[in-house]
Amino acid sequence: MTRILIIEDEKAIRMALEDDFMAEGFQVDSANSGTAGLQKGSEPNYDIILLDIMLPEMDGFEVLKELRKRNVRTPIIMLTAKSLEIDKILGLEFGVDDYVTKPFSPRELQARVKAVLRRVNEKPKISSEKQISFGKIMVDFQKYECFKEGKKITLTTLEFDLLKFLIDKKGNIVDRDQIMNEVWGADVFVAPRTVDTHILNLRKKIEDNPAQPEWIIGVRGRGYKFLSS
Ligand code: CA
Repeated sequence: MTRILIIEDEKAIRMALEDDFMAEGFQVDSANSGTAGLQKGSEPNYDIILLDIMLPEMDGFEVLKELRKRNVRTPIIMLTAKSLEIDKILGLEFGVDDYVTKPFSPRELQARVKAVLRRVNEKPKISSEKQISFGKIMVDFQKYECFKEGKKITLTTLEFDLLKFLIDKKGNIVDRDQIMNEVWGADVFVAPRTVDTHILNLRKKIEDNPAQPEWIIGVRGRGYKFLSS
């Protein structure tokens, strides 16, 4: 049984999430503050954690930082209400596996949770190459590590999978449908612009000038292409 921890202070949302995930067959636990969430989340009892950002005592960012500092590798999906927070999530040096913007539909959230779990469980989905270098970037797809000029940069697991897929298809154009099917999975609904958003984030991390990418090139009306070096 998949075990989920829901860290959310708003009672109505928390209870709705508890009901939704229980109905889906998850074993559900919850916490209503940052400190309670940190305490529960530090135990190796969960397969995935949903973490709200605006929380009493400790906010979601602090909880995340502390969990990762304690070497908790449980996948985390952040729940965010503000676009300002999204920028902060994208800039995090600590791994977040995905985020969902409030208000979200239970269906969307469940699809995201399942996609993260599927990615985590399918690891390692290693093809021939484990370590790849291009330009100033070195990626180790086995260890899920990425370096730019020797300095570690943090990619989410989704960004690793996305980059891996583009590199596997290097030199070829892949359209958004292919990316969605391969990276998110055919059973998961994501809006096509979600692909664009994650491509943009990935560019911000690996490209020198994200506005004029050298590696992940957009092909108007068709999709994206990783340039072969
Ligand atoms: Ca809240």
